[in-house]
Amino acid sequence: MTEIADTSFDKTVCIVGSGLSGLTCGMRLAKAGFRVSIVEELASPGGLLAYTRIGREYLELLPHHLRKSDKALLSLAREMGVEDKIQWFDSTWSGRASHRKVGYFDGGFSCLVSSLMQDITDCGGHVLFSTTVAEISELSTEDGSKGYRTSCILTNSTRYVIDSRYLIFTGSCRTFVNVSHGLPIPIDLRDIMMNVTYKAGLSVMMVSKKPVSEMFFQHAPDFMPFDNIINHTAGFGERGYGGNVIYLTGRCSTTDDLWIESDASIMTRYFTALRKLYPSLRKSDIKSWRVTKTRYALSERYPDIDLTNPCENLFICTSGLTRYQTQDVPVNHMDPVVQLAGSICSQIIAKAKESEEQHEKEDTQTEITDLAGLV
Ligand SMILES: Cc1cc2nc3c(=O)[nH]c(=O)nc-3n(C[C@H](O)[C@H](O)[C@H](O)COP(=O)(O)OP(=O)(O)OC[C@H]3O[C@@H](n4cnc5c(N)ncnc54)[C@H](O)[C@@H]3O)c2cc1C
Repeated sequence: MTEIADTSFDKTVCIVGSGLSGLTCGMRLAKAGFRVSIVEELASPGGLLAYTRIGREYLELLPHHLRKSDKALLSLAREMGVEDKIQWFDSTWSGRASHRKVGYFDGGFSCLVSSLMQDITDCGGHVLFSTTVAEISELSTEDGSKGYRTSCILTNSTRYVIDSRYLIFTGSCRTFVNVSHGLPIPIDLRDIMMNVTYKAGLSVMMVSKKPVSEMFFQHAPDFMPFDNIINHTAGFGERGYGGNVIYLTGRCSTTDDLWIESDASIMTRYFTALRKLYPSLRKSDIKSWRVTKTRYALSERYPDIDLTNPCENLFICTSGLTRYQTQDVPVNHMDPVVQLAGSICSQIIAKAKESEEQHEKEDTQTEITDLAGLV
């Protein structure tokens, strides 16, 4: 990737979101000499890949694994020096042995997230946590070129403003529309963005004293409140969790009563349903559990046009828009967002280089004119 020497306004970028998209963009651009500011509304990095400590290990709040076909993701892991932590396992899906191996990092995906964070901060970038982007507006610069003002709100309600030449938004398209009222985006494009819809997701992660099944992945019967049972320990081994990790995951409409139920009540419902499959499982077998609600979990409707660059110097990098840049069948996987992040960063680096060359040309022109005046 092209190295850009200095860090003037032309090489400033504000990235909204510190999930895999935001961190990948942040790492690429920080390494290419950009001054990177990342704004994240949560208190820690990772987005959908966020993790917590369970026993002696870090574990994702939502179940994640790698596939051998995740070329861009595996190449990112290599670049970040964590490829040798990937272990590949045989697995059983819904009662059948799969011919595909599933991969998991020794130490969980936290090793990828923290090495991305490390590279960003080592290159002078910074990440503001617990800070929500409330508005994105255009910035008028002295030379008339485009820039953006990102207005943020901190948890103590104070406001904070970041000015940058480039902006990358990695939240959902709907959130983007809600924070970008002042931008000159045609109304029909805004309507299309509002229609890039996502399903919300509900997931319970529990640590049980005893294993429930040998199967890694199991579809839950239709009458259950969740869709899938992912038996992390059956897939990736016991590790240092101090028990067997099981995820119960599913889609859930935000208008569904379940969405607003308390975590304890969701856990009771899910556990009662799980016991119908595994009657020997007792409540006293569960050492710990955690409910995770995800508003924008799975993109379900993709636009027919490319919306990743709706305004000059502004990019949207989100799973709902991966279809155009990756030329892949759209899927809710990490690999396409890593590809999209790479493509957006290459465009930004090329634009910055072009504008640097333009400035150099103008400077040379001015010098020639000055010299001509002296002759
Ligand atoms: C249950 C589940 C299981 C999955 N399992 C797999 C798997 O096994 N393999 C796989 O390849 N993929 C899997 N995925 C998909 C994978 O998690 C995503 O593709 C990937 O994590 C998307 O990363 P992202 O950075 O684009 O989005 P996100 O992780 O959603 O990051 C966006 C970030 O932006 C922040 N943000 C949004 N709006 C604002 C704002 N206004 N101000 C500040 N910050 C903001 C959010 O807080 C968030 O941190 C799974 C997804 C789910 C839901």
